[in-house]
Amino acid sequence: MENNFYIKEKGLLIVISGPSGAGKGTVCKELLSKYPNLAVSVSATTRDPRPGEVEGKNYYFITKENFLDMIGNDEFLEYAKVYDNYYGTPSQSVIDMMDEGIDVILEIDIQGAAQVRSNYPEGIYIFVVPPSFSELRKRITERGTESEEQLNKRMNCAYDEIRNAKNYSYIVINDEVHVAADKIASIITAEKCRSNRLESKIDEIIGRS
Ligand code: 5GP
Repeated sequence: MENNFYIKEKGLLIVISGPSGAGKGTVCKELLSKYPNLAVSVSATTRDPRPGEVEGKNYYFITKENFLDMIGNDEFLEYAKVYDNYYGTPSQSVIDMMDEGIDVILEIDIQGAAQVRSNYPEGIYIFVVPPSFSELRKRITERGTESEEQLNKRMNCAYDEIRNAKNYSYIVINDEVHVAADKIASIITAEKCRSNRLESKIDEIIGRS
């Protein structure tokens, strides 16, 4: 009898960081529109929703008390305080999607990425940078969602964040969204072809169990 039993390939965990305004969200949206086997994890945050942001789609907007409860119940894969608010990745949905074979993107800050990396070094760590600081300021200003004070805070943090880029396996300069998205898609494709990820496939081909 033909052996139809096979273990479903686990999805990849892709961590994308970069300063506010680097365009991570736009690049991820572009990726999602092109690749059906990809999902972006929805984080929980204590920050207020921006106009147009949708509960459960952009974030789960929760109170600080609820956030602290979730920390206490060990519900986060990682969490961090970023620009005076808490942000965290609920772990269960990420685990479920990866078990389903879906590649999951975490769009998180450098502190959260460091936490994930220490527990899951086999993840793919990508840093997205703007082409210049003046372009970064322009993008945050044009978004029109931040006060002058918040804008300056984000610009100051951007220096420290970009210095961290060397801790990531890949750096993608987001000059044009579709080019940056294509580069990330290429990284994912190359990672899927890594010999250590295909050991069981090779065993299957040569008939070893
Ligand atoms: P924003 O307020 O602009 O949506 O996000 C601010 C920063 O928080 C961004 O750098 C974003 O990547 C990061 N962030 C969003 N969700 C999470 C999360 O779940 N965990 C961590 N550590 N950072 C997050």
